[in-house]
Amino acid sequence: PKYVYDFTEGNKDLKDLLGGKGANLAEMTNLGLPVPPGFTITTEACRHYLGHGGMPDGLAGEVAAHLTDLETRMRKRLGDSDDPLLVSVRSGAKFSMPGMMETVLNIGLNDESVLGLAKQSGNERFAWDSYRRLIQMFGKTVLDIDGDLFENAIDELKGDREDTDLEAADLQRLVETYKGIVRDKSGREFPADPREQMDLAISAVFDSWNAPRAVLYRRQERIPSGLGTAVNIVAMVFGNLGADSGTGVAFTRDPGSGQQGVYGDYLQNAQGEDVVAGIRNTVPLQELEGIDTASYRELLEIMATLEGHYRDLCDIEFTVERGKLWMLQTRVGKRTAEAAFRIAIQLVDEGLIDMDEAVTRVTGDQLAQLMFPRFATQEDDRRLTTGMNASPGAAVGRAVFTSARAVELAGRGEDVILVRRETNPDDLSGMIAARGVLTSRGGKTSHAAVVARGMGKTCVCGAEELEVDVAARRFTTPDGTVVEEGDVISIDGGDGAVYLGEVPVVASPVVEYFEGRRPDDELVAAVDRIMAHADSVRALGVRANADTPEDAARARRFGAQGIGLCRTEHMFLGDRRRLVEDLILAVTPEERQAALDALEPLQTADFTGLFEAMDGLPVTIRLIDPPLHEFLPDITELSVRVALAGDEAQDKDRRLLEAVKRLHEQNPMLGLRGVRLGLTIPGLFAMQVRAIATAAKRTGARHAEIMIPLVGAVQELEIVREEAQAILAETGVDALIGTMIEVPRAALTAGQIAEAAQFFSFGTNDLTQMSWGFSRDDVESAFFGRYLDLGIFGVSPFETIDRDGVGRLMRIAAEEGRRTRPGLKLGICGEHGGDPDSVHFCHEIGLDYVSCSPFRVPVARLEAGRAAL
Ligand code: ADP
Ligand code: MG
Ligand code: MG
Repeated sequence: PKYVYDFTEGNKDLKDLLGGKGANLAEMTNLGLPVPPGFTITTEACRHYLGHGGMPDGLAGEVAAHLTDLETRMRKRLGDSDDPLLVSVRSGAKFSMPGMMETVLNIGLNDESVLGLAKQSGNERFAWDSYRRLIQMFGKTVLDIDGDLFENAIDELKGDREDTDLEAADLQRLVETYKGIVRDKSGREFPADPREQMDLAISAVFDSWNAPRAVLYRRQERIPSGLGTAVNIVAMVFGNLGADSGTGVAFTRDPGSGQQGVYGDYLQNAQGEDVVAGIRNTVPLQELEGIDTASYRELLEIMATLEGHYRDLCDIEFTVERGKLWMLQTRVGKRTAEAAFRIAIQLVDEGLIDMDEAVTRVTGDQLAQLMFPRFATQEDDRRLTTGMNASPGAAVGRAVFTSARAVELAGRGEDVILVRRETNPDDLSGMIAARGVLTSRGGKTSHAAVVARGMGKTCVCGAEELEVDVAARRFTTPDGTVVEEGDVISIDGGDGAVYLGEVPVVASPVVEYFEGRRPDDELVAAVDRIMAHADSVRALGVRANADTPEDAARARRFGAQGIGLCRTEHMFLGDRRRLVEDLILAVTPEERQAALDALEPLQTADFTGLFEAMDGLPVTIRLIDPPLHEFLPDITELSVRVALAGDEAQDKDRRLLEAVKRLHEQNPMLGLRGVRLGLTIPGLFAMQVRAIATAAKRTGARHAEIMIPLVGAVQELEIVREEAQAILAETGVDALIGTMIEVPRAALTAGQIAEAAQFFSFGTNDLTQMSWGFSRDDVESAFFGRYLDLGIFGVSPFETIDRDGVGRLMRIAAEEGRRTRPGLKLGICGEHGGDPDSVHFCHEIGLDYVSCSPFRVPVARLEAGRAAL
């Protein structure tokens, strides 16, 4: 295979092979934009390297050929002592992983070529600054030396000065110090040979794919672990040549709100890393207009070109070298959930995309984020400061100042806000653990902001008034308020406010909109149009899992087209436990019937409420599923009660204790439950069916669906069905009788089961549990972390349907069920019904509907629409 592509050879659709950065550099090159020349080593080479522990044959030759070509075009040789070509070696995977992987700038400098660079540029300071940066980045990235050692050395040298105040001689001395650090810590000299520098950097970039923070980030973002990264070799351009040079980042629209305009940060006399790292404070991009009008104008033109070309918000890295603008990166930019909806509709209204495309531009996860609550009021008297609104949401928690502390407190169930001067990739675990992130430095493009937006985590950044003292674990506001570790603060990612104490939260406007109280704003209007279009294109129906009239009513307001699962077991709790106890303790048929007779009117009332709330829409009622001992008192409690009472113990308690012991099961999830109860306890299912029939008759509900749980064999279903049909006939009510498919055997014999079932509903929680043999209640804490680390699955199969295993069973059941009974109605009622990826799978295998919790109904509607496009 071909392992190396020149930028002129690639394009934006080759992200799998060239990574996002490489593919987009190629795209910009082909658009005629000013990109420094360079080439990309493919992800395939990386996969080979990681898999075989070495570079693939032929790679070295290809790299050499492309390097020679680059040298010819640049009329310079890599590391030449008179006029060196310098390059950057940059990571770039298919999915952007901000700051997770490595990049080394200024490759090609050594003790000789630094002099050549100084002479050619006429700027000694610049040459030594570039050299010290190389040793610093190379030391940290390639040689694995603690980056703080370099940071401390430069801080010491700076004293009270800014980094730009350092002079050539200072930087030359720093280079010596840095070389000493390298010698001490790595046991070798900093490599002077430019080609060796480049090759070591390439391996380091490949290796950085498996750095712990990259692994953690991928897991969080559900990025597959086997993709690998590409490496881009790019001719260096220099933003650190003086005041007429600089570097910056820009967005073509505000990634927080979607508003069109000029958004970005610029830093004079600096190299790219400085902007993100928050070394010095950047200026807003608009100020570039005053600094360098020509470059500014050209940048705006390029931004317009890119938006038009990608038909989406783009983010950009650029550098100005002595008044000449260079594009160093672009990609379709990350954005907040709110901005995603607004931008999609803006692009429709600007004629750049159509509504179908708009629906694909937003995700169910983003919609779910918009349904988060927000702060109720602006508590101005408690406001400590206002920073930048980097990532929306309302977060309340205790202030903590280190990632480790965040993880520790969150592990104990505390809500925490991670407060830092700025974050770096090592803070990832703390950011994941925290409810929100607050930084005192850095703009909307800082590490904290970018990563938080990606994770959907609330973030306020650049709250410069705050004096954050990490060592003392506190921050101070200008008026002298001190917030110590553990003090509660509230941060508003919507407007950047930081409050002392807990501010109450309210529902989001999007939820209000779904609830039918429509506040009139642009976001709600955008959501409304996108949802309407998703509804018009989707093939899947969306129902809700709801057990009470209140839940059912909410589900309908959220757009549910029926109830896909009403669990009847909650109807046996509370005061009614006593009746269930009577049922269990009944000795004679008469006693049992009396207990059932007492339960029936209560059940009838329950179903009546539900049918009324759903007003003629289909309602699937599952007959009782859990083992009956779940309704009995806890065995320990009961034993103690009986023991303490001694001879005085109530007769009922004694009998209950006996029953609890008798009904005890080693594996209750595989025990006497579901249809097995119906077949074992005479009259139980009949009572429920009669209650359903009576309620249906009373309310005129014509779409009742009676669902039998845990069926594994058609015979089970036949027996129960016969009894149910008799009752329905007696009452003169028409209802469907169907079954859950949640035991693997049911899926495998679906062709037979469909003889007796008018519908199937996939119970994917049990089906997953039984297919993998995982106890759902235990495994997640016990070993799923390890499994995720090992890549056995990328996401818990209880969250997203395991397509290969559980999904295969579903596919078989759907196909064979419909072969027996064409038009067999198929649905899903496990938790997966509200999971975006699983919704897509359900669409693919031709289910009629998904059913999920009421709050997930809008998410499922949107994803069902996206699945159909
Ligand atoms: P990341 O993916 O972390 O942003 P990059 O590979 O984009 O890493 O590089 C880090 C910084 O260095 C960016 O600001 C980028 O613009 C800058 N940079 C990369 N290559 C060059 C180059 N050839 N010339 C000048 N600056 C560069
Ligand atoms: Mg970058
Ligand atoms: Mg089940």
